[in-house]
Amino acid sequence: MIVKPKIRGFICTTAHPVGCDAAVKAQIDYVKAQGKTEGAKKVLVIGSSMGYGLASRISAAFSCGAATLGVIFDKPGSEGRTGSAGWYNTAAFEKYAHAEGLYAKTINGDAFSQGIKAEVIELIKKDLGKIDLLVYSLAAPRRTLADGTTVSSVLKTTGASYTNKTIDLKNMTVSDVTIDPATDEEIDATVKVMGGEDWLDWVKQLKAAGVLEDNAITLAYSYIGPELTHPMYYEGSIGRAKAHLAATAKQITAEVPGVTAYVSVNKALVTQSSSAIPIVPLYISILYKVMKKAGLHEGCIEQMQRLFSKKVYGGGSIETDSEGLIRMDDWEMRPEIQKEVSGLWDKINGDNLDECADIAGYQRDFSEIFGFDVDGVDYEADVDTAVGIESIAE
Ligand code: NAD
Repeated sequence: MIVKPKIRGFICTTAHPVGCDAAVKAQIDYVKAQGKTEGAKKVLVIGSSMGYGLASRISAAFSCGAATLGVIFDKPGSEGRTGSAGWYNTAAFEKYAHAEGLYAKTINGDAFSQGIKAEVIELIKKDLGKIDLLVYSLAAPRRTLADGTTVSSVLKTTGASYTNKTIDLKNMTVSDVTIDPATDEEIDATVKVMGGEDWLDWVKQLKAAGVLEDNAITLAYSYIGPELTHPMYYEGSIGRAKAHLAATAKQITAEVPGVTAYVSVNKALVTQSSSAIPIVPLYISILYKVMKKAGLHEGCIEQMQRLFSKKVYGGGSIETDSEGLIRMDDWEMRPEIQKEVSGLWDKINGDNLDECADIAGYQRDFSEIFGFDVDGVDYEADVDTAVGIESIAE
């Protein structure tokens, strides 16, 4: 079929299999061009089909030469209906990894569930013996708990309402948005979904099953950002979950022998998850403009390749700040970058969007998440939407 984007708010309900393949290939090519890193050998990535998790898997495989096991929650395509972008990304990743003789298998299902945890442990025992790195990169809107109840995360403030600018990318308008405070119940639910509870559960179960190497590392991802986004993010309901994640890293290191846990604070980037947050997409568009001009712009793959090759592996000790956090947002948070972003933030309105922000860059990255707007892809061509993931077809 000929696949076209169908955008509904901040989600695209179609995905282009050839475009996703080309975007994954470009990420692999980037990592290969940076050279090898002496690092992880057997890696489990939870949430490996999109964004930072996918880029982590690609960096582990193609920089470190690691065997990778991925957990995804995606939909295959069929005749006449496209699958999810994460499905096509994973199909492409496995194809390219297998072509280079790298072990790569994927389990598709809810990473929060006990069934998927048990399946992963069995597969590690059977194929890999033990893993030396666990990357926990879930960004989920909801979680079904062991008792069957489902809790949802919210993107709200805590305390007072907060009003600031936001962009409507469909109509290209900038307007004020007011974010209401979350209730205590909503905050608790957000912490359940996006905090560290499930990460700790994974680590404890992997340890109890004897499938973690001694001196294993585990990484989860967070965001801090500048003050203008703090009421919405760092001090908002999601920020409470991220504080819990950071506390969980300390808890894992203290309580699980032989495992060291780190939270890496990553750069703000366009992903399926970040596009859902009010205010943040306008900030990202301005940030792109400023960082591209300064020659400091990175996407998910540049961030994760640098994380693996410079901050975690690649010799010496793991580089953290005084709080024990790995700072991949080091370039984003440089004072000269933030000063310029802040000036543009004050100035931007619906009439000077392109002057103040990289709207085209934002939109291109958003399209690319779903395999659209990727260089070299013929979007008028008939494509096969029923693409299989090699290890799942086995
Ligand atoms: P993303 O939406 O691109 O990827 C999330 C991944 O989680 C997808 O592969 C999705 O399929 C998977 N997933 C969701 N629910 C799942 C489930 N129940 N079972 C299995 N897999 C599931 O998001 P992202 O932006 O890459 O976020 C990953 C992490 O990075 C999050 O912790 C996020 O807070 C953090 N982070 C993101 C940014 C940013 O700007 N995007 C910045 C810093 C940190």
